[in-house]
Amino acid sequence: MNTATEVLHRVFGYDTFRPGQQEIIEHVAAGGDALVLMPTGGGKSLCYQIPALVRPGTGVVISPLIALMQDQVDALTALGVRAGFLNSTQDFDERQLVEAEFLAGELDLLYLAPERLRLESTVRLLKKGAISLFAIDEAHCVSQWGHDFRPDYLALSELHAQWPEVPRIALTATATPATHAEIAERLGLREGEARHFVAGFDRPNIHYRITAKSEPKRQLLDFLRAEHPGDSGIVYCLSRSSAEKIAAFLVENGIPALPYHAGLDARTRAHHQARFLREEGLVVVATIAFGMGIDKPDVRFVAHLDLPKSVEGYYQETGRAGRDGLPATAWMAYGLQDVVQHRRMALEGDEQHRRRQALHLDAMLALCETVTCRRVMLLDYFGQPGGSPCGNCDTCQTPPESWDGTVPAQKVLSTVLRLARERGQKFGVGQIVDILLGKTTAKVLQHGHDSLTVFGIGTELGNAEWHGVARQLLAQGLLAVEPNYGALVLTDASAAVLRGQHEVRLRRDPRRPAKAASAPKS
Ligand code: ADP
Ligand code: ZN
Repeated sequence: MNTATEVLHRVFGYDTFRPGQQEIIEHVAAGGDALVLMPTGGGKSLCYQIPALVRPGTGVVISPLIALMQDQVDALTALGVRAGFLNSTQDFDERQLVEAEFLAGELDLLYLAPERLRLESTVRLLKKGAISLFAIDEAHCVSQWGHDFRPDYLALSELHAQWPEVPRIALTATATPATHAEIAERLGLREGEARHFVAGFDRPNIHYRITAKSEPKRQLLDFLRAEHPGDSGIVYCLSRSSAEKIAAFLVENGIPALPYHAGLDARTRAHHQARFLREEGLVVVATIAFGMGIDKPDVRFVAHLDLPKSVEGYYQETGRAGRDGLPATAWMAYGLQDVVQHRRMALEGDEQHRRRQALHLDAMLALCETVTCRRVMLLDYFGQPGGSPCGNCDTCQTPPESWDGTVPAQKVLSTVLRLARERGQKFGVGQIVDILLGKTTAKVLQHGHDSLTVFGIGTELGNAEWHGVARQLLAQGLLAVEPNYGALVLTDASAAVLRGQHEVRLRRDPRRPAKAASAPKS
């Protein structure tokens, strides 16, 4: 007997299915098409692996994660599953061997990089063998509006035309309702053509927290010492050099850490990844290149020191924490410079790219600045509206005050306006705040900014608070930055604020608690 449940026990050694798995597996095993939306760690792999084992022929898995194919195949082989892969990292002989196995009907699963399907030779090869199903992993890569578009994925719409009788299952952990619809459209898996399985996206064991950035390295260290001493985790940052620096900083402070980014050679990267999977209590400081498809169940925290580009990316990265279902933390420090930098990056590229970037960024900033439950907002974003406050995020646990920031907003905007109108000048946030605070710095004196009527009109707030005001004005689109130097400029929406026609609601950044008592080094 070769039923799904029997394969689950015998091959994979698991007692029961995870929620959703059985239905999906039985549908695909019976030859149906499926579109599966399931959060990271939900157990998507089994949804195509078991049908591939139950059905005659080879299951062909399209995956963009070339770097992981070897690991995936090794893991399957260890379970006695006959698996192979074809991608650009292999030499001719290695490919020949896999192709021969496929043609001889000796493979249960064949992993393929999407670009291989564009090759005439690959299509010819597949035509000659017996295929049990096509699994399209990371299916959101077909969405042009998504955050991870890959042109090679567009060609996957051809699969159905070429192999009309072979079932297809597309899977993703990251899809807003719009992306979901686009995947179905582009892959020919619309409702009616295929069954859609949408699992709950909530990860209730993950505690979400987004804090104002002041001294990022120190804040990270305090967070790790206070809440995750000795735990495994991932720290994300944007640049290679900061990944190196932060890793070195953690090591100096007694926390075992390794960098991981595209600037390291493949062997070092593979070595660091292997150590992360194997060792306990290791922290990897990575650029976004790390973690896709990595299955380490006991990642206890994911920390972001820079703002991710999109909520999809953020949720996917934070989803790598707590796959074992035990408590885990998604922690982020975010500040004014993040907004400035991302607003500037969102000004690059062609019109469509800019619009896409701006939409992604606005959603990300709204999540950062919200005064309501972060989880409710995240789930709403992924198409599960109407949740109640979760009690396991920072805004639930210490509700931030919101306040009427109209007057401070007007002070910032009119300073920007005066510099432009009266002096024909543009400056960055630092100078604007110095003017508001009435500081006679060298730069203020040099430009004669102490004679502006707005000089010193903002002593009711401190330096950090003014930065918070400017950050939120940028986040809300009431202020903009110029691409080149990051100077502040007004937007169309600024005028209504200056005229008093638009109330500006701001979030009061919770004061940082007095430095957490450092845990003793172990
Ligand atoms: P995803 O691709 O959705 O992120 P995976 O397929 O990598 O998730 O599965 C996540 C983890 O859960 C893996 O360690 C996998 O072995 C495990 N897993 C999947 N299904 C089951 C199950 N039915 N019972 C126990 N563990 C499971
Ligand atoms: Zn909450």
